[in-house]
Amino acid sequence: MSRKTTKDLETVELNPVVPPRRALLDWYDKHRRVLPWRALPGEVPDPYRVWLSEIMLQQTTVATVKPRFDAFLDRWPRVEMLAASPLDDVLAEWSGLGYYARARNLHACAVAVVDRHGGKFPNTEKELRDLPGIGAYTAASVSAIAFDRPATVVDGNVERVVARLNAITEPMPSVKPKLRALSVPLFEGDDRERPGDYAQAMMDLGATVCVPAKPRCDRCPWFDQCEGRAACIAHTLPRKAKKQPKPQRVGLHLWLVQQDRILMRRRPEKGLLGGMLELPTGGWQSVVAARDADYPALMNQLPLKGRWRMLPGSVGHTFTHFHLTARIAVPHGEIIEPDGEDWRWVSIDELGDVALPTVTAKMVRHAMAKMAEPDADLFEAAS
Ligand code: SF4
Repeated sequence: MSRKTTKDLETVELNPVVPPRRALLDWYDKHRRVLPWRALPGEVPDPYRVWLSEIMLQQTTVATVKPRFDAFLDRWPRVEMLAASPLDDVLAEWSGLGYYARARNLHACAVAVVDRHGGKFPNTEKELRDLPGIGAYTAASVSAIAFDRPATVVDGNVERVVARLNAITEPMPSVKPKLRALSVPLFEGDDRERPGDYAQAMMDLGATVCVPAKPRCDRCPWFDQCEGRAACIAHTLPRKAKKQPKPQRVGLHLWLVQQDRILMRRRPEKGLLGGMLELPTGGWQSVVAARDADYPALMNQLPLKGRWRMLPGSVGHTFTHFHLTARIAVPHGEIIEPDGEDWRWVSIDELGDVALPTVTAKMVRHAMAKMAEPDADLFEAAS
């Protein structure tokens, strides 16, 4: 085992564990995962597939991404075809994967690759980072995996392996910069053999051997070098800071159906669920607990004039930074028709073809179920 100091670590005085690269590459050659976006041994990686998978895998599991990746690739086998496709088609295909800004950036990035680079992805981290939706991690990973260039690729799996190798007991997320610094000599030290395979080997080691709850250290190529294993604390690493409860918000949305069409509205382009369809609402209100919701106040903010009754029950949805509890109101009497280009009547038959974010799809299902209940317990409130 060797320990090295790199220029990245000068200020933090770290002494990282750098186990033999060859041991991990040999392990990878025997145990690598077969994934739809990954080149088989001897094949040249396709940057388009690598990039597409990296965008899809942000915040989404491998199991969820696999079938969706195949569907995307069937529909748009080349970046030029994706770039030429209407954004709405891309958003519809993305439906249910969440974080819709990714889908918008995906489309914008495809357009940029075609316009700026003639349909060929650039190979340096710097040029990749200039493209829409590509941050430091994705640039490093595409550069390493698609172009076999040395880059420090630190995802959650790699953080776990590095925390254990070095027996780092400080909690996440504040320890992240330290884990990244400790990773640099692993990826970009003196030995830079097969950078693309090495990055994927690190990810595979974390996903299949150095797994969160019970690391399978007896199968690990770095068993001898691992300080966390030697100290019998590997399974507790990386430690996590105590979680703060998520803030709560509440909302009131409208269910207006005419001639088998549902009234929806497009959200503002910028911000959460940017440009996606929602059941009309006057906005969400921060509360200490969902029971503190002030529904009369929310009624007064509704974007349509009329009288409304609330359906029983509520819809819960957890976003990255808060939890939403939404109730649905239905019209009670005349409604003044909306005016403006944000509004859209969506045919019930068309629901499977439009890009609905998960939270809107949940509300639609909830409203349909409650409206179908013959004895639905409705009560009245006027806007
Ligand atoms: Fe992870 Fe165990 Fe390998 Fe250490 S020895 S890197 S804890 S699997």
